[in-house]
Amino acid sequence: MYNYERFESEVRSYCRSFPTVFCKAKDHLLWDIEGKEYIDFFAGAGALNYGHNNSFLKEKLIEYIVGDGITHSLDMATMAKETFLGKFYEVILAPRRMNYKIMFPGPTGTNTVESALKIARKVTGRTSVISFTNAFHGMSLGSLSMTANPGKRRGAGVPLEYCIRMPYDRFLGDSESSLAFMRKFLQDKGSGIDLPAAMILETVQGEGGLNAASFYWLREVEKIGRELGILLIIDDVQAGCGRTGTFFSFEPAGIQPDIICLSKLISGYGLPMSLTLIKPEYDIWSPGEHNGTFRGNNAAFVTAAAALTYWEDRTFQEQIQQKAERVHRKLTQMIADYPELRGEVRGRGLMQGIACGVDGLAENICKSAFRRGVILETSGPRDEVVKLLPPLTITEEVLDQGLQVLEESIQECLN
Ligand code: PMP
Repeated sequence: MYNYERFESEVRSYCRSFPTVFCKAKDHLLWDIEGKEYIDFFAGAGALNYGHNNSFLKEKLIEYIVGDGITHSLDMATMAKETFLGKFYEVILAPRRMNYKIMFPGPTGTNTVESALKIARKVTGRTSVISFTNAFHGMSLGSLSMTANPGKRRGAGVPLEYCIRMPYDRFLGDSESSLAFMRKFLQDKGSGIDLPAAMILETVQGEGGLNAASFYWLREVEKIGRELGILLIIDDVQAGCGRTGTFFSFEPAGIQPDIICLSKLISGYGLPMSLTLIKPEYDIWSPGEHNGTFRGNNAAFVTAAAALTYWEDRTFQEQIQQKAERVHRKLTQMIADYPELRGEVRGRGLMQGIACGVDGLAENICKSAFRRGVILETSGPRDEVVKLLPPLTITEEVLDQGLQVLEESIQECLN
């Protein structure tokens, strides 16, 4: 038996602990050093849209490396960057009639969020930013102050320095109450708050419990922002790049954010990469105002460009939506069949889960599923949600197998 803890950093700053050591992964499967196979419903916390070592992306990456393609170029123009940018405009932005400039803010989701906050403050000349209940936006000091979970902020002594917290859709019961609260606070001088630079939000709250905003609420929030001159930042780090069934999670709402944050899934291969999309008129950076050594990871641009090939074919999007409906149907059936769960189906697309009304149950279900060979994680302020993030390319057959194991795990935990 291996001491698996020796195979991770000794510094326990990370939250997950899977009691094994993994050595190999392909598509939707992982294997540990004892040869046990796992179905991956975790996908690198949503960073592996196209599965592990996707054959098509791998081929492009190997071709690039074997051809001595540039890996690190910092601010130099390269063919890998050019190819990616061209394809992103052609396949993603142009067909959606979206007019944005693309910035490379650094390798992580936190980097794109930080860049969005900085640009919004510079554009408006204001300081504070609205973020919402149960939000997660990152772990650096600025993004952490937007993050709702007080447990994550407390140790670092991060106050809500720049952040005005507002109720997310239905946090106060229904959409109208949250909208009325926002309007009152922002418009009534008696509230005493300074007008913020921006509002930042996730359309589906990945870490905060898979709460999915209604399209109506998103449109109304956009309207409030437009009326008051507050920029709208959509943090699509987890919900974007197809996870909810459309490339951008906000597409079905028909809104046009001022700034869009993408990361996790954008490279398609789990390589660090992030993008900040800004409306052209907000490109007021001075040279050097937001830079970083790992801003331009060429290997990631190569796999990201290859991954966009999936989006050239509309059937890819339709397949994600069909699989999402399948997950929704099965989860809905499970909460009906097991009322002791006191469950609620949450989320959208291939980012759904079951919120359990019994303390500790979601964690136990995930542990049981792990023993049975399915990797799942929890979400939510009390870890009350069993969260499913399978690769978008997963087959219906394997999806069903994983869901079957989930059901067996629920049965085990309720007995
Ligand atoms: N925003 C959202 C919505 C996220 O889910 C995450 C990561 N879970 C981040 C930002 C931060 O990304 P990273 O961990 O790559 O810094």
